[in-house]
This record gives sequence, structure tokens and C-alpha cells, in this order.
Amino acid sequence: MALSSSAVASAIFEGSVASFLKALHAEFLPDRDGNVATYIPELSNADPDHFGIAIATADGRVHAVGDWDVPFTIQSASKAFMYGEALKRLGRDAVLAKVGVEPTGDAFNSIVLDEITNRPFNPMVNAGAIVVSSLVEGADRTAREKAMLAALGAFAGRDLAIDRAVFESESATGHRNRAIAYLMLNSGMIDASPDDALDIYFKQCSVLVTCRDLAVMGATLANDGVNPLSGERVLPTGCVQDVLSVMYGCGMYDYAGQWSFDVGLPAKSGVAGGLVAVVPGEFAIAFYSPPLDRFGNTVRGVKACKRISEMLSLHSFCSRTEVGSVIRRELCGLTVRSNRVRKREDRTLLDAAAAPVRIVELQGALHFATVERVGFHLGALAASTSRVILDLRHVTSCDMASAGFLVGLQRIWSDAGRMLVWSFVPPIGGLIDLSAALVAAKAHIFADIDHALEYFEDLALVEGPAQPEVSIDSMRRFDLCRGFDEQDWTNFVVCAAPKIVEFEAGATIVRAGDPADRFFIIIAGGVRVSSRGGQDARLFRLSSIGLGLTFGEMALFEDGRRSADVAAETRTACVVIAKDAFARLEAAHPAIVAKIYANIIREQAERLRRANVTINSLES
Ligand code: GLN
Repeated sequence: MALSSSAVASAIFEGSVASFLKALHAEFLPDRDGNVATYIPELSNADPDHFGIAIATADGRVHAVGDWDVPFTIQSASKAFMYGEALKRLGRDAVLAKVGVEPTGDAFNSIVLDEITNRPFNPMVNAGAIVVSSLVEGADRTAREKAMLAALGAFAGRDLAIDRAVFESESATGHRNRAIAYLMLNSGMIDASPDDALDIYFKQCSVLVTCRDLAVMGATLANDGVNPLSGERVLPTGCVQDVLSVMYGCGMYDYAGQWSFDVGLPAKSGVAGGLVAVVPGEFAIAFYSPPLDRFGNTVRGVKACKRISEMLSLHSFCSRTEVGSVIRRELCGLTVRSNRVRKREDRTLLDAAAAPVRIVELQGALHFATVERVGFHLGALAASTSRVILDLRHVTSCDMASAGFLVGLQRIWSDAGRMLVWSFVPPIGGLIDLSAALVAAKAHIFADIDHALEYFEDLALVEGPAQPEVSIDSMRRFDLCRGFDEQDWTNFVVCAAPKIVEFEAGATIVRAGDPADRFFIIIAGGVRVSSRGGQDARLFRLSSIGLGLTFGEMALFEDGRRSADVAAETRTACVVIAKDAFARLEAAHPAIVAKIYANIIREQAERLRRANVTINSLES
């Protein structure tokens, strides 16, 4: 019993591709329309009940149902792939000189050539395909057969073979094709022997594939010419576009117009019952079922493909791009702060400076419509702020023209004296090096949002270079010593034995895993605390700590090892206090140590509060 289309629809929402394909298969399996091809005697042996469906995604997953592994001859579906192979080898102009790209509106085997150019109309009908076959190179028939099998095999991702019985049957009966080939010899479109061209043509039609193979071949086109299973680049990008265009207009012979109207996908069928349709950038879907309609297309395949296109909104002219989703989110500089820990007295100033900063995160593909949207959005933001961070971490691609638009956007902002800075510019932009072009337009580019925020904070503070103050006394004015009187200070210096240690920029001060036996107070310069994380164990910055602040103080509270790396960001001087000296201070002067602990806790609470605000804003 056929399932209703609503049963098929609900299967999709059950979330399973397999059950979706099964329902689709069950819906069309009982369809008895059409007849198995008999004009090639061997093809009449096909089982009319065979029905397979396979989907292959552009990133290499295959879903298949029914008779997806039954071998059949590829027939005319080979034409699309051999056309791609000819384009790759000879270039567009050489191939266009021999075969056009116009739909015929005639049957696949019609004997018509363009009256003006003498060319066959397109490579998807027999005449054009025979010309393309004549272009296969090789010293003799065996070498050309090998080249043809290698070409089709690269698309399928496995070695393919010829069904010799079908080949014999085709060449014994293919007189009409012979007539077409000789006509084209006469018109100058075939240079050498028409029989050699027909030999390769009949052989390519007789190559055995499964429905799964056909799906993978289509997925190679969907994946911009790279076979998603083998990883091999089979066709260059431009050729893929040419092949799909011709498939779109001509792939279904004299049904091509109705097909484009109903299904709206580039596709190619063959008289053994195969059909492949491509959703560029996403996946390909293949069908195998031998009964054909009057155009020579598989009946079940055409009906099922039409249904799937409707249900999944696959029609090429169905607007599926959500242009608005290019802006992933927008954050305010007050909610996300850089990880640089700042002096208490700077914080009020920084809060005021952070308020107008906007962080705009982009995502997905940047093309005209999405970049236009971003430009419009920034234009609106410009009314309320002159400081924007544009984050490209989640951008997946950007065409060349759009890279140019982004550079233009930067130029407009720079010229207006506004600050548009960039975080994480991936290697995108086609032939343009986007980073270099942005820098030429006076852009500042940072590795991540954190560094971009820090840049705006530094601007706000108008910080000069840190003045090294390398005396023990200089730490008296820092928070750690808050509440000390003269006597406390003297006792502290005597018992805790603070020492000054200086580090060159970039020097490692503490390494994760080292014993934690001392702590540090920065009296000049600043340090970066970083840790390894993520799948690639990348070193990422936990925080930067500047003048007057402490690090490594956890050594005072626990017996343990360092949990992160600390390195000097610039030339840095620290007061170092050993843990055992601190223990002596505690034994002799517990009141001093109580003051130090209170100061450390106050600072830690402040850092925690800031971290929480950042975490909350990232989770929202
Ligand atoms: N070998 C077949 C022929 O030329 C291919 C035709 C097709 O699949 N439409 O007749």
C-alpha cells in the first residue's frame, strides 16, 4: 500500500533520513507506469521491479534504500561526466567550438545539428555526447577505453567496468547513433574516425554503476568537483558550474523544460533507468528503476525526485538563503570585557569607554546579499557609536567581490575617523588576500575579540609605555599592601624576604606543572596567563595581568603545581615571595598576613565577578 505524502512528511520530522527514504521508496514502488527499454536488446532483461534511491552528501555521507546496490549500465548519465572531463582537459573554448549548450526540445537521439554552426546543440543528447566521446585521448581504442573508465571512476570513487554484453548489444544495434556520427564527420565536428568515437560512446554508456555510485558521482559535482569520499579533485570549479548549467537546461532531453519547472535541479538520466540530480553545495540524489516514460526517463525516479524536491524545497529558485542570519549576534562592550586584568583605579574610566563599543559577530557565507546586509547594519550602528569590532570567526566563505566590499566598508569608516576593527580574519576572499587589503585600508586586525577589546581599552587609557619601577618599595602602593602601616611594611620586608626578578619580553616565568612554591607581584610590565585547550591543544589566553597585580598566589593556599603558563608580555619586573618565607611571616606576624589575604580575596572576587558577566553574556 502506498504511503500518503503526509506519511512521508511525518517521516522527515521523525528526524531520520533512513525512514524518510524508506517512505519515499514505499510510496513509488507500486507504481507500474512505463516500460523497460527494449531498443537495445540487452536492456530488456532488466527487472522492472528494481527500485533504488541513494543520497550522497557533499561532505561524504551516503544514505540508500531499496535496490541501491544493483548494478546497471550508466547510459546517458555518463554524458554529463564525460563532458566535464573534456572541459577539464581541453578548456571551455575548445569544447564549445565542437558542441553547443542549447536545449533541443527534441528526443535524445534526434538527428539535428545547429544549421549555422554545424555543432550539435548540447552534450547531453546523443549527437553532442558522441562529439565529446571523439575528444577522449589515447593512442588506440584500448587506451581511450582506459581513459574513459578512469574519468568516470574518479567521479564514483572506485574502479568501474564495462558490461560487455550491453556494449555488444548497443554497437550491434546503434545504427541511428552511427548515422549521427557520420553526419558530424560530414559537418566537421568529428575530426577522426566516427567508428572510434562510437566505440568509446557505446562503451561509456555500458559502464556498470549502482545507484550509490551515481549518487557519489553527483555529490562530486555538488562538492565543487572534489569527490567527497576519495577527497580527489576530479574537476576544477569552473567546469563544475558549466556541467551543472548544461544538465539544468538539457539533462532530461525533451522533458528538460518541464523538469526545470517542476523539480528545478540539474539532473541527468539514462535509458537503463538511472537518474542523478544535484543540489549544488549540499548533496546529490540518485534513483534507479528501469521502466521509462516516453522521453526515456525513469518513471519512478522522476516522480520520486519531484516529490523530494517539493518536500525539501530543493528547487533552484526556491529562496532558501536567510540573508538576515549573517549577523550571528551583537554584543555591547560593557558585557564582554577583555581578559586583561586592570588596576582598580582604571576601571571606572574603562567602564565608560566600553559602553559604546559594539561587537558584531558574522557567520556563514559572505556574498553580495549578506555583505550588503552587514554594510546596512553598520551604517545604522554608526549613528550611535564610532567603535565597532567585526568578528569573522564563524564566516565560512567570501567571494572576491564581497571581499572588495568589506575593504570599501573599512575605507569609509577610516576616512570618517571612526574605528572599525576586525577580529579573526580567515583566509577568505578568493584571489584577494582580505587581511592584507584591510590593513592597506588602515584596518586593525586582531586574533580574537579579546585582543580587539583590549586594544579599545588601551586606547581609552591612552597608556604610555610602562615605566619600569624596579624597587621593592614600589610595591607598597599596590593593593596587596593595602592597610599596611610603617611597622607592618618593615616586618613584611624582613620576614617575607621579597626579591626583585626581571624578565625579558616573551620569557616564561611559570610553566604549567611546575611546583607552586612562590608568588609574584608585578612592579613593571605585564604578563600573559595562557593554557592549552581545545581539540588541537591550542595555547589560548586566560588573562593578561598588569602592573600592581599578583599572580601565582594560589601557591599560598594549596600544595600543588601550576595550572597555566605565565610569560612576560613586555619587559617585566616582579617582586617574588617564596612560600616558606611567607610561612615565616605568618608565624611571626599573623595580623599582616590576614591583611594580605583580605587584599587577595578582594581582588579575586573582582576577577570572578567580571568572568561571570562574560560567561553569562556568551551563554545568552
Ligand atoms: N546508449 C544509449 C543510446 O545512445 C544512451 C541513450 C540514453 O541513455 N538516453 O541510445
